[in-house]
Amino acid sequence: MCNCLTMRRDLRETMGGKYPHSTHSPACEDYVTEEFARIEYGDVACVMEKREAEAFVNDSNIEYVVTTVHLTRDQFERMGEFAGF
Ligand SMILES: [Zn+2]
Repeated sequence: MCNCLTMRRDLRETMGGKYPHSTHSPACEDYVTEEFARIEYGDVACVMEKREAEAFVNDSNIEYVVTTVHLTRDQFERMGEFAGF
């Protein structure tokens, strides 16, 4: 059950403003993260579904830096559409 209202939000899930805030606080029972892929090239980065990232990297000749990030589904949905490298 959600107990966000009983705690102070510190927005630590944004990792210093790197990602959008989540609906639930990381200390809430309803806070559930999933694995997403963060793809970086130079100073440009985007976050994708893991399977989409795999296809994207395989289709490309560029060596991207791919790391796994744990975000909630709502954080991911709050991120702007990726416009391409
Ligand atoms: Zn909550």
